[in-house]
Amino acid sequence: MLRLSGKPVFGGIARGKLFYFQQDENEVTKRLIKNTDLELQRYEFAVEQAQAELDELYTAALDKIGENEAGIFLIHKMLLEDDAFSGSVRSRIKDDHFSADYAVAQTARDLSHSFAKMTSEYIKSRAADLKDVCDRLIRLIQNKAEKRIELNEKVILCADDLMPSETMKLDLSNVLALITCYGSSNSHTAILARTMNIPAIIGIGAEKLSMLREMEAIVDGYNGELYIDPDADTLRRLEKLEEEEAKKREMLKRFKGRRNVTLDGTEIQVYANIAGLNDLNYAIENDGGGIGLYRSEFLFLGRNNFPTEDEQFYNYRQVLERMGGKRVVIRTMDAGADKNIKYFGLTKEENPALGVRSIRLCLMRPEMFKTQLRALLRASMYGKLSIMLPLITDIEEIRQAKKLIEEAKDQLRARDIPFKDDVKVGIMIETPAAVVLSDELARESDFFSIGTNDLEQYVLAFDRQNLQLESYFENRSHKALLKFIGLTCENAHKNGIPVSICGELGADLTLTEDFLKLGVDALSVTPSQILPLRQTIRTIRLDERKQLDAVRMF
Ligand code: PEP
Ligand code: MG
Repeated sequence: MLRLSGKPVFGGIARGKLFYFQQDENEVTKRLIKNTDLELQRYEFAVEQAQAELDELYTAALDKIGENEAGIFLIHKMLLEDDAFSGSVRSRIKDDHFSADYAVAQTARDLSHSFAKMTSEYIKSRAADLKDVCDRLIRLIQNKAEKRIELNEKVILCADDLMPSETMKLDLSNVLALITCYGSSNSHTAILARTMNIPAIIGIGAEKLSMLREMEAIVDGYNGELYIDPDADTLRRLEKLEEEEAKKREMLKRFKGRRNVTLDGTEIQVYANIAGLNDLNYAIENDGGGIGLYRSEFLFLGRNNFPTEDEQFYNYRQVLERMGGKRVVIRTMDAGADKNIKYFGLTKEENPALGVRSIRLCLMRPEMFKTQLRALLRASMYGKLSIMLPLITDIEEIRQAKKLIEEAKDQLRARDIPFKDDVKVGIMIETPAAVVLSDELARESDFFSIGTNDLEQYVLAFDRQNLQLESYFENRSHKALLKFIGLTCENAHKNGIPVSICGELGADLTLTEDFLKLGVDALSVTPSQILPLRQTIRTIRLDERKQLDAVRMF
């Protein structure tokens, strides 16, 4: 038996075979060749193979996702046939003596730079298609097979790390547990695993893992342990652990239908965080008081083109309808950083977490943003919607976003489409700038929600993707962070608006009392944490909390 330890992300015991998924990285190095005719032939052959692959993908996609979506593969074929593209590759092979893969990579780089400078959303999104096509060509020139996560049976899925888009594409019915060598507990893959109730361990940090493929294993997601070829004692012990945990879960059910109220009678709202429609079941099952954070960008991930206004509208409408009049906070698209969406055609950045992401990206692409805003406003007719703006650093961003909301309303009025005119607009407090300016920002906002995942990383200069730093900051109740949260609450309440926490720290039961004493009015957490949080809140006495009668609650 071999034991590997990592960081627990979601509890649960899972037993099965390991399946190791290795991502493909196209490595292209500069190589000069003598026989340019032969190299041109290699290129032509790869183009033919790529066309055949794209035809196959198109036919399969027609069945699975319909003509509209499948059309993307026809666009990829057109790019392959484009004269400017193939002319450029040929001349680099013929005149510069570049190898075929290097010629394609250089052409892709130059074209994507000029695409990125265009203002048209359409052309920008084509930059990602260009990258897709070129990756395919390079892979074929290098004679490599395409890598996809195809699971034909139930497995414990292992990978070095997984991109959120890869996680979104997984066939979850075949994933017993998720193990990654790297990654951190605040990464979106970890957040997704938690929301989807999959036992998960990250940062197992073992190159060994790749050598252990197909072996029998058992995952202890509670303690972050993976046992390969487990012995009988371990199996018995983990079976017992699972029984005990099941009893605890059963016991927690007693708290369903009860209030989140402290011993001195203060009512705290507890909401669910979701990343898509599938998570709604968990939110409802666990008796969420509403949705405190719908990460709408996940609707854009794991697909090849922008969802239309109608698609978005039906999605948001379903969330509102299923929550049956309870509050639903939909965060506008928070793309960028680790949530890189290929077809957005984002330029590669040195520091994506400090780059063109989130509200910045939306304000730079107002047409894309307004499509989402129209969809949200249309959906507002079906429940109690609040719109939340992420990564705010300045009052001007709120004003600009609100101006676009007004423009979206005008567009709907012109189309005679109904919407609620009084949808609340709040902001996320995720940057030190937002905390420092919170008094001013509160005057332009209906509510605050503190995104501790990002706030932690910007306040403590601590990359949320970096596992090594997690143990460095083992004590998560960092004084600086708590002071920032306290100041945010003070300024929010001074201006009569409520504050919630929707970052992962909101579910840390060792901090609940601190948060409530600092004045936090609501917590929004992964659905499985709602009942444990309710149990904890009911044991807390808040003598030190200031009177909050003046706060306009949600
Ligand atoms: C946060 O930063 O705390 C947050 C809730 O947003 P995300 O994790 O999606 O960046
Ligand atoms: Mg964030």
